[in-house]
Amino acid sequence: MPTLGNPTSTIAVLQKYNFNFQKKYGQNFLIDTNILENIISAAEVTKHDCVLEIGPGIGTMTQYLCENAREVVAVEIDKKLIPVLEDTLSGYDNVTIINEDILKTDINAIADEKNDGKPIKVVANLPYYITTPIIMGLFENNIPMESITVMVQKEVAQRMQVGPGTKDYGALSLAVQYYAEPRLMFTVPSGCFMPRPNVDSAVVKLTRRKEPPVAVKDEKFMFRIIRAAFNQRRKTLINSLNNAFDLSLSKDDVSSALESMGLLPNIRGEALTLEQFAELSNNMSNGIL
Ligand code: SAM
Repeated sequence: MPTLGNPTSTIAVLQKYNFNFQKKYGQNFLIDTNILENIISAAEVTKHDCVLEIGPGIGTMTQYLCENAREVVAVEIDKKLIPVLEDTLSGYDNVTIINEDILKTDINAIADEKNDGKPIKVVANLPYYITTPIIMGLFENNIPMESITVMVQKEVAQRMQVGPGTKDYGALSLAVQYYAEPRLMFTVPSGCFMPRPNVDSAVVKLTRRKEPPVAVKDEKFMFRIIRAAFNQRRKTLINSLNNAFDLSLSKDDVSSALESMGLLPNIRGEALTLEQFAELSNNMSNGIL
C-alpha cells in the first residue's frame, strides 16, 4: 500500500531529510490520494505495463505506479531526492531510479532494456518549466510509446487541443495533434500540491497515433516551417518563413506555394490547419517551387 499522498506523510518525509523545495526544478508535490488514483486510472496502468515517470519527487506517485505497473523507471534530476526515493520506495522491487536530467536521458535505451523496445507508458506530474521540450522530445525522438498521461498547466492542456482561430493555437498544438490524440482528463486545484503552484493544473492524456492524420513527406521540414510561422505569429506567413534563415525560402517561394493552395498572400501562420501546413511543406519539399 502507498504510504505517501497526504500532507502529513509528505511533511514527515520532508522533515526527516531536511528537504528544501527547489523552485528552479518546478517542485510541487502531490498531496491528494484521490488525484493520484485518478491519474493511475486515466493512464490505464496495468501489471503488463512498463512506465516511465518523469520527476518522481519524494516518490508519491511512484508508489502508486509500482503498485499497479509491472516495471517503473523514475528519472529525477535533483540528487538530494535520491536518498529520499531509496527510502520511500524500499518496499518495491519493480522500480529503477535514475538521477538524470530527463532532457538528456536516452529513453529509447530504457524502453529497450526494460520493455524489449515495446511501447511504454509515460506518466508524470511534470515540472512545468520544461513541459514543451519534454513532450516534443518524447515525440520527436520516436520513443516507443502507447500514451503520455501528464499533469500540466491548465493553459498548456488547452493549447494542446485547439485549432486555428484561437490565441492558444501554436506549434505545441500542431505537434501534439500530429503525433497523438489529446484528451483533457480533469482539472486539479492548486490545493492538491505542496507547495501550491500559482497556476491552475490539469491532467491530459496523449494517446500515440499509429499513423499520422496527414501525409507528410518530410516531418522535420514541416515542423521547421511550423516553428518559424509561430516564432513571429503576428507577421504574415510569407515574412515569417522568409525571415527564418535555416529554411532559406524566398518570398516568391512561399507566395507561389500559397497561391497554389488557394490561400491569400497576407495570411498568417496561425490561420493554417495541420492539413494546410502538411500541404505547404509537401509543396515546398517537392521541388515544385
Ligand atoms: N512526482 C512528484 C509528485 O507528483 O509529487 C513530483 C512532481 S514535481 C511537479 C516535478 C519533479 O520533476 C520534481 O521532483 C523535480 O525535481 C523533477 N525535475 C525537474 N526538472 C527535471 C528534469 N529536467 N529531469 C528530471 N526531473 C526533473
